[in-house]
Amino acid sequence: MPMPMRQSLRVGSYLMRQKLARNKKFPLLVELEPLFACNLKCAGCGKIQQPHTILKQRMPVEQAIGAVEESGAPMVSIAGGEPLMHPQIDVIVSELIKRKKFVFLCTNALLLPKKIDKFKPSPYFAWVVHIDGLRERHDESVCKDGVFDEAVAAIKMAKSRGFKVNTNTTVFNTDTPQTVIDVLTYLNDDLGIDEMQISPAYAYEKAPDQEHFLGVEETRELFRKTFADGRRKKWRLNHTPLFLDFLEGKTDFGCTAWGIPSYSLLGWQKPCYLMSDGYVKTYSELIETTDWDSYGRGKDPRCANCMAHCGYEPSAVLATMGSLRETIRAARGNLSTADPLAGLAAAKARRRGSLTTGPGTRVVICAPVPDGISRARQESPIHSGKAQRLRTTFVQAIPPG
Ligand code: SF4
Ligand code: SF4
Repeated sequence: MPMPMRQSLRVGSYLMRQKLARNKKFPLLVELEPLFACNLKCAGCGKIQQPHTILKQRMPVEQAIGAVEESGAPMVSIAGGEPLMHPQIDVIVSELIKRKKFVFLCTNALLLPKKIDKFKPSPYFAWVVHIDGLRERHDESVCKDGVFDEAVAAIKMAKSRGFKVNTNTTVFNTDTPQTVIDVLTYLNDDLGIDEMQISPAYAYEKAPDQEHFLGVEETRELFRKTFADGRRKKWRLNHTPLFLDFLEGKTDFGCTAWGIPSYSLLGWQKPCYLMSDGYVKTYSELIETTDWDSYGRGKDPRCANCMAHCGYEPSAVLATMGSLRETIRAARGNLSTADPLAGLAAAKARRRGSLTTGPGTRVVICAPVPDGISRARQESPIHSGKAQRLRTTFVQAIPPG
């Protein structure tokens, strides 16, 4: 993840503390939803269909801060609904910043110009503006004309006032590699967005639109073509190189949704931001009472097409942490897969007995990190056989020691 240095160091030291404490499951980032109400009605949204009594509610500041503190996560993404409709959203943000949490405020940007004076630029704060495509595509995605132009004007205003501005782009099966290339190039080059996030859309059970979601193979093909010809390296994408490899189908992971848990007005959501199999009061309870092994592609039919950030970016982060080569690659942006550090990483892997491969194009060396990663290797059919063959090749190629 091309994080700023302060954020990298803090998140890195947090991960190291978890490893030293031998914690198997812990949050990297909390998805905080302090309300479900929104000023838009996107067809693909799975949040605004809550009953009217819940749509009216706003989470008290103390409850929001208490949940984040109890989890211990170093980063918080505030979503909803539209967080800027919460009357005390600025207080929630400033209280989290006081606690040195990195805060990402996700917004459709319609209220941003009106509310911007309540916020101050900070190394701990970034706006994350929802932009699904260029003008016509975005307005179609949010089911309202003129939203793209308002969002772009709000982004320019926030940047002119010294804020860090990121974007989040959801990709549907109506997208082509060219529509994704067009929007990412515009955001990167024309608007100067600090970091861009991309996500294949998930078919929320409650979303009115159930037709425009990508399958796994469609997602892989779309991203392979989108990232081709060196474009991936030119864009400031807010993901680990391994998560981008995952989107392209160069590697595969198990779901580690416990790494990006969701806390809303209803409580901690089981098992993730996308599916709701019940709610509990604390993060500890979420960890202890969720049957994590029953979720992920190949385990639960509702997960079959999921390649979402909330399930697989923690897997990619943990795999990155477990590999010297991948850690350096993440720090540098992108390195060649054939770099000389592969030998060092392979030596580490041999000592630890862990190695994960994608469908024949890349080998990812994992340290003995929490459960989801090593299970991904053992259980995903894509790795069987080929993993053993590639592993033998690497082990034989390096000297003992
Ligand atoms: S802007 Fe976000 S929260 Fe609002 S309706 Fe659209 S997808 Fe849902
Ligand atoms: S694969 Fe993981 S993140 Fe995706 S829907 Fe299933 S549990 Fe949630």
